[in-house]
Amino acid sequence: MTYELIIFDLDNTLYDGDSGLLQELGRRIRIWLQTHLNLEDAAAQALQHEYHRLYGTTMGGLIVEHPDLDIHDYLQFVHDIPVEDYLQPDQALAQMLVSLPLRKIVYTNATSEYGWRVLAALDVQTYFERVVGIEEVELRNKIYSDAYGRMLDLVGVEPDRCIMVEDWVSNLQAAKALGMVTVLVGEEPAEHVDFCAPDILQVGRIVKSLLDGAEQPGDCSS
Ligand SMILES: [Mg+2]
Repeated sequence: MTYELIIFDLDNTLYDGDSGLLQELGRRIRIWLQTHLNLEDAAAQALQHEYHRLYGTTMGGLIVEHPDLDIHDYLQFVHDIPVEDYLQPDQALAQMLVSLPLRKIVYTNATSEYGWRVLAALDVQTYFERVVGIEEVELRNKIYSDAYGRMLDLVGVEPDRCIMVEDWVSNLQAAKALGMVTVLVGEEPAEHVDFCAPDILQVGRIVKSLLDGAEQPGDCSS
């Protein structure tokens, strides 16, 4: 197989989960839920976890359960974070990206505006031709295969020519079903995932061995 495009998730994939940025995103989600649904903090946190489990993201739950609320206001508020306060330029990440002879995009359940700011804070924005955010896929998150279909239409690549790199296994199921090679970052080996990378820098080695034919897509849980 000839691979053409490598697709990276953003949050907790291209930067480390202990940077504090994920926690700030979560805090702002809970503030928005408290304000717009009139909840205490503990109830907002419980709802956040419930929606994430059932609908892939808090936003996914809001769209289904509270269609009257302004989702674009939610997205703007949640992502209004000075990301450069949490992230630094990542030279090792840049070197890994530049070593991969494939087109590269970011595909995120966040907004593309936030995505570009994160890439700039990491100083890796020049390696990506595009950021596809949630507003470019009609607010459908990655647990839905139609969201992947819209993303692929935007970049004009067939799924079997794509490698998808992501930290959350539920987000890889649709990608795998469509025929993409899937790489799970930073988690325990899981079923229905081709490769598991202990951290993002290992993705370079995995993809190079795939391109060389030294490794084939398989099941990293076995
Ligand atoms: Mg992620």
